[in-house]
Amino acid sequence: MAAIDGLPPLREVIATHGLAAKKSLGQNFLLDLNLTAKIARQAGDLSGCDVLEIGPGPGGLTRGLLSEGARKVLAIEKDARCLPALAEVAAHYPGRLQVIEGDALQIDPLAHLTPPIRVAANLPYNVGTELLVRWLTPPEWPPFWESLTLMFQREVAERIVAAPGSKAYGRLALLASWRAEARIAISLPPEAFTPPPKVSSAVVHLTALPEPRYPADPKVLERVVAQAFNQRRKMLRAALKGLAPDLEDRLLASGIKPTDRAETVGLEQFCALARNIAAG
Ligand code: SAM
Repeated sequence: MAAIDGLPPLREVIATHGLAAKKSLGQNFLLDLNLTAKIARQAGDLSGCDVLEIGPGPGGLTRGLLSEGARKVLAIEKDARCLPALAEVAAHYPGRLQVIEGDALQIDPLAHLTPPIRVAANLPYNVGTELLVRWLTPPEWPPFWESLTLMFQREVAERIVAAPGSKAYGRLALLASWRAEARIAISLPPEAFTPPPKVSSAVVHLTALPEPRYPADPKVLERVVAQAFNQRRKMLRAALKGLAPDLEDRLLASGIKPTDRAETVGLEQFCALARNIAAG
């Protein structure tokens, strides 16, 4: 029996193309097309948008994005075994799906995309966090994307949307709140995936702000917050040791007590410290 979009159901696609999930590629597939369409809707109005999808796998989310009206989907997939299944989706939606085989961490997709661009992905969480940090820290702002709709382990999703002072607050929340609005859009139990992972997951939706909340050099800010939260129990004068000369003076000039711990310091102060350090 055909699925809601007229293509074969995903279980059949997986069986036909021998797509046994590989742990090394973080493969936990979404097979329910109602669910993938729901995730695609979280990405906003896709008509008139190009969508960059990372890790399409057998194509569940890809089909959701296309059935929800994306003008074009550019999908980057590392596992060559998935390409024949994705070619069938491309044939069903002529001219709207382009697939690039390769590692999303190595490929620059921008030459293939026309603004406005949204990003959607269900990725292994380590690749997802690395890409998220890259997408939040380009030298220029606004970025190439209007929104990011990304699946993470629930615990990582909570770190992205965490409020200052909470246990989950750290580098990810700080960088996300600096240049974007972030919220958890959907929570998913392990059984939503095949095979089910050990932990629950959540879709995080981020919308790019027109301007960062406070000015700062992204590379310097990223270095400061990574070092500050790497040793989050230490006082900042110890955690940030070696980051810049005259550190205590710089902390004080940025409104931070040298005895403060990272989790008690707000975004505004971290941005002030990054500006102070960048000024030399
Ligand atoms: N999007 C599909 C879904 O929702 O069913 C597959 C999700 S599965 C969690 C992650 C996908 O990302 C797999 O297809 C895997 O092969 C792919 N992948 C893993 N690392 C990747 C990388 N570095 N670049 C591109 N794709 C990658």
